[in-house]
Amino acid sequence: MAKKQSLESIKAESAGLAGPIPEELQNGDAFFSEAAKQLLKFHGMYQQHDREVKRGHEDESERYHQFMIRTKVPGGQLTAEQYLVHDDIASKYGTETLRITTRECFQIHGILKGELRDTLRDLNDVLVTTLGACGDIARNVMACPAPTTDPQRLAVQEYAFILTRALFPRTNAYHQIWLDGEPLIEEKVVEEPLYGPSYLPRKFKVGIAYADDNCVDVFTHDVGLVALFDAAGTLEGFNLLVGGGMGMTNQNEDTFPRLGEPMGFLLPDEATIVETVKAVLTIHRDYGDRENRKHARLKYIVSDWGVERFREVLQERLSFMLEPARPMSEFKVEDHLGWNEQGDGKLYLGLPIASGRIFDNGDFRLRSGLRAIIERFDTPVRLTPQQNILLADIDSADRPAIEALLDEYHITQVGQISSVRRYALACPAMPTCGLAITEAERVIPQLLDEFEAALSNLGIPDEAIVVRMTGCPNGCARPYIAEIGFVGRALNKYTLYLGGNAAGTRLAQPFLDLVAFDDLVPTLRPIMTLWRDDALPGEAFGDFCMRAGFDTLRQIADVPVAASGAYSGD
Ligand code: SF4
Repeated sequence: MAKKQSLESIKAESAGLAGPIPEELQNGDAFFSEAAKQLLKFHGMYQQHDREVKRGHEDESERYHQFMIRTKVPGGQLTAEQYLVHDDIASKYGTETLRITTRECFQIHGILKGELRDTLRDLNDVLVTTLGACGDIARNVMACPAPTTDPQRLAVQEYAFILTRALFPRTNAYHQIWLDGEPLIEEKVVEEPLYGPSYLPRKFKVGIAYADDNCVDVFTHDVGLVALFDAAGTLEGFNLLVGGGMGMTNQNEDTFPRLGEPMGFLLPDEATIVETVKAVLTIHRDYGDRENRKHARLKYIVSDWGVERFREVLQERLSFMLEPARPMSEFKVEDHLGWNEQGDGKLYLGLPIASGRIFDNGDFRLRSGLRAIIERFDTPVRLTPQQNILLADIDSADRPAIEALLDEYHITQVGQISSVRRYALACPAMPTCGLAITEAERVIPQLLDEFEAALSNLGIPDEAIVVRMTGCPNGCARPYIAEIGFVGRALNKYTLYLGGNAAGTRLAQPFLDLVAFDDLVPTLRPIMTLWRDDALPGEAFGDFCMRAGFDTLRQIADVPVAASGAYSGD
């Protein structure tokens, strides 16, 4: 059997990420080879198959192949026209569904190989790209999506676009393959001054937060920028955080979730910010583990080296002296739901979207209703890190008509759901994610029903607990900073994490391993009871868990004293 080509050599030999994609696009198969499949991720698409459709079992040629495409949406910001093109594509080529990701992007599932080119052309026509939405490269740059007219906050949001441009790959393969449709001309392959021929060892995530609103979970990114304002609201600059990341591998103590750590303070100047983020990226490029992908994220460099050494290496790559990080006040998180003033007399409306899934089902016609509102009122759209949607620039006179449309299409508003449902997140997991070990999105509604019933029985139905669930330890829905995290571990079994916080500033800890789905809420019920009875005034569930201590909680829950099989922290 031929030896499997490593991803590092696939990247290095790809001539700017083209590899065998151009030829295989013409070959009449419904799928791509392994090498092309890996490179397609850089182009923002995953080759998938429905794992529950047993058409061909292990043989690639007999599987029902389809593609997920992910668009890059810097800062979560889209025009009405760009939103509507995504919606059109979901109808024309997809599964009649749009999915908002936890990085403020859109995913569209179910596209066939022969439809990829038309899909990307439709997106390109409205200046939307998928290049770099997946793969070992800088991913979508996140920022607070809330519409604002405050020039200081607008300046912060603008850095999502500045950094997107600065970190964008230079390859023209994407354009030639998908947009021109001409055979790739090798002589025209462009060098990558930032990434080099092998790109990065793994993905690279950048998030930008305000110190008073950490809606982007800024500590979970490879690079976090925290905007600091003076008492008058003027932007002073950014604290630079480095080395956050959520993913880990079961039973592998060399891998773990990690929060970013402060490395310095940056003046609010485009050249300074771009130079610094590029310098951090090049440290990842040059020192990241290219032998072991499980250990290849930037966070492991920071962890192995320590903050001081990392700062020294970073300093050597900068043209200015890095100032020490400045004190930060306590973080808060806004989800921006409901009706809000945006500062210019206009309103924006935040709507909760369960697991980010925009679809129609019977009377519940979320997709049709959103389309009707966006078309009629031409509202710009913002996608949030909590997988919700904001409709911007609404005249207050239009509010009654929009409310009527929400009722007509049976679209849920934030006041109609419980707090636990409002803050819950789940990743897509089964049936399409190739890495999923357990269910997540498809079972979280049932889990939340059980949570709501438990909280009601305890007489605290309105209490908020941040619950997140993923189908594997990669942690796409950021479960390791939730107050309660459920991470897929084995068939129908989860590792239960406790003790994160709503502000996203503390890692949860493994509490109990291999908990069957049906036992999740029953296991937690005694702990929720203790919280109700013993919490300090206003004490959140995650804070209570950390104060009470896991030994106490394990006694109360009547579970073994030591959790096993989970990460050891760092
Ligand atoms: Fe797939 Fe795992 Fe990410 Fe969920 S957390 S979407 S199962 S990779």
